[in-house]
Formats: sequence, structure tokens, C-alpha cells
Amino acid sequence: MNYNIAVIKGDGIGPEITDQALLALDATGTRFGHTFNYEFLLGGGAALDVHGIPLPDETIEKSRASDAVFLGAVGDPKWDGEPGANRPEMAILGLRAELGLFANLRPALIFEELADASPIRPDIISGSLDILIVRELNGGIYFGPKNTDALTDGKTGDGVLAALDLADGKGRWTGTTAYDVEIYSESEIRRIGKVAFEMARKRGGRLMSVDKANVLECSRLWRGIMEDMRAAEYPDIELDHMYVDNVTQQLIKNPKQFDVIVTSNMFGDIISDEASQITGSIGMLPSASLGEGSFGLYEPIHGSAPKYAGLDRANPIATILSAAMMLRYSFSLAAEADAIEGAVRKFLAAGYRTPDIMAAGFTEVGTAKAGELIASLV
Ligand code: NAD
Repeated sequence: MNYNIAVIKGDGIGPEITDQALLALDATGTRFGHTFNYEFLLGGGAALDVHGIPLPDETIEKSRASDAVFLGAVGDPKWDGEPGANRPEMAILGLRAELGLFANLRPALIFEELADASPIRPDIISGSLDILIVRELNGGIYFGPKNTDALTDGKTGDGVLAALDLADGKGRWTGTTAYDVEIYSESEIRRIGKVAFEMARKRGGRLMSVDKANVLECSRLWRGIMEDMRAAEYPDIELDHMYVDNVTQQLIKNPKQFDVIVTSNMFGDIISDEASQITGSIGMLPSASLGEGSFGLYEPIHGSAPKYAGLDRANPIATILSAAMMLRYSFSLAAEADAIEGAVRKFLAAGYRTPDIMAAGFTEVGTAKAGELIASLV
């Protein structure tokens, strides 16, 4: 088969780690008889340098026309002083919005060979730790109505605050006031629920829905809809619920109890970062952002690590594993994805380590050598 992939290498270590993932993809194509066509597009600081904006229309349109988008990392200290809308990172937020990517999949996976890199006691994480966090990406408090200064000393109100009973006489609304509204609709919850239930069905048949239903209305709606979906469409899935504050504890105390987790935008942002730390190395973790159907954007969870740019020191494994996710979720090529993940395991088992995960007794290799070795093991 032929697959057309929009590739945005981005900034910092982005280009060098992306190149290693493309080597692994090409090796997979050769072994399994597929052709991966790459359309190289500008995004982030690289686009700012050429076009003065982080996400040119051409990048959006050609990404939309592709079968999947593959991204290295964006972010360059050169642009740190820019106003928010013109920072390299806006390329990612813009692509998610333009391409309707509403489901963020972040696996937290510990490779047996790297168990020592985790800050958690070995007896807690020994054996396999393999959690998939499904985070809603386009809704909730990050996208709800927000304002500062809409109400000062209880004297003025905009549309949202005016709807509240502000004159409660308790002296609460004094000084400058700011608000961000958590808002979810049934359709938004159902579409992320569907992704999560389907993932649970492909994995261990268990789904943990994370909310704060003891306090938040949105969480009560969320919980009710998850229950409804299970009863109507997914009776084979074991659905549980946990409050987000408890999840932050359980991830440290007994992370192996989790398989697939589904949660809202803000809760997912926080617990997926916590889960990534359990694995010990940010250079190892891939991610996917999915929309309706099979289209998706794939990228490592880490940023552009500017201090390592061009030094052949970056770990390319998160990016290579992102390519495996692309094969699995956008192209339904499970055996091919297994081949890339297997190559990473063989690379680690053979004793090779990039500088970020180097330990005594292993063989240190740079970014390019790691990519070459992993591709040769596919
Ligand atoms: P970062 O993820 O780039 O780096 C965090 C730490 O991890 C640094 O010490 C870095 O050197 C190290 N690191 C990251 N990836 C590594 C790899 N593959 N191999 C070895 N070490 C690695 O986060 P940061 O330092 O907060 O941000 C740097 C830039 O990246 C900023 O401009 C930020 O906005 C951007 N950023 C981009 C994305 C993205 O493209 N999705 C995500 C996060 C941050």
C-alpha cells in the first residue's frame, strides 16, 4: 500500500529525531511491501523564519490532504519574546484545531530493560507497566469562556458573570476577578468516550474514567454518559470511575492497576505528565492526536530540547515509537507497528543507550547511530 504522510520536522532536535523515525518507517516499508511518501512542510520556528507565522496555510492544507501528520518538535528560544499568538508552539495548537483532533493518546510504557530509570521502587513497577491515557483535547476549561477584569469590586459584569448571583453579600467578589469555565457537551463526551472504549476493547477490556464528580457538574455529566455508553454499546468493557485526586496518588502507589484511562482536557494534561515521569525518561514516550476516522497527528511528548540541537545527543525513541503509533492507529498496520516496537526492544536489550538513559555497563550511541541500529532491527 501507499501512504502519504505530511512531515513537519520543526525546530531544535526536531529534524534529527524525525530523520531517525523516517529510517524506521522506510525499513518497515521495505520489509512489509509498503511505500511511505513524505511531504515535508514548515511549522513552528522554522516556518516563522521563512513566512513570519508558525503555521502557514500551505502546512494546514497539505496536512489535511495527507493520510497522517508526523511532527518532530517545535520551539526555539529565538522566539521566546514573541507574543503568544506568534510563538512556534502555536503550530501544534493550530493544527489540532484546524484538523479537528480531539483525542490525545499518551501511552506510559516502561520497557523492562529500562526499569531502573524509573523514580518508582522496582517492586511497584516490575513486570510490565503499560497505561494508555486518552485525553479530551478540544474542549473543557481550556476552551471555555474566560476573562479577567470582567468584574472588579462587584461593579461590572460581562455576560457570564452577570448570570451568577454576584451580590451574595459575603465580600467574595472584590479586587480583580478572573474566570475560566469548564464546559462539556454530551456530544463531546460521547466522541472521546467512543475512542476510549474502542481502545479498551483493543487492549485489556478495562476502562478507568477519571473525573471529579463529587464536586463538578461537568464530571457528573461525564460519568453518566460513560455509564450510558457502556450499557448501550460496550457491555463487554469493565468500566470504573475514580476521582482525579485519587488517581494522582494511585499512579505512584499502584500504577499497574490501570490499563486505559479516559479523562477531560485539564485532568488529562496533568495526569499524563505525571504518568510520563513514572517511566523515567521523557525521550521514550510517543503520542497521537486523533480526529474522526483514522486521521491523526503523531509526535513525541517532549519538546525541541534546544540545548541538544545538532549535537547528536537526543534520544530518537519517542519519535520512532510515534511512527509505530501512526502505523497502528491511522493505517491499521498492527504487525508493522509491532515490528518497530520490537526493534526498539531489541536495541535496548542489546545494551545500546542514548546519553539521556545511559548507565554503567551499556554502550552509548548518538541520535543517528541509534536510528540506524533500530531501523536495521525492524
Ligand atoms: P523539552 O521536552 O524540550 O525538554 C525537557 C528536558 O528533557 C530538557 O532537559 C531536554 O533537554 C530533555 N529532553 C527532551 N527531549 C529529549 C530527547 N529526545 N532526548 C534527550 N533529552 C531530551 O521541554 P522544554 O525544555 O520545556 O521546552 C523546550 C522547547 O520545546 C520550548 O520552546 C517549548 O515550548 C517546546 N515544546 C514543544 C513541544 C512540542 O513540540 N510538542 C512540547 C513541549 C515543549
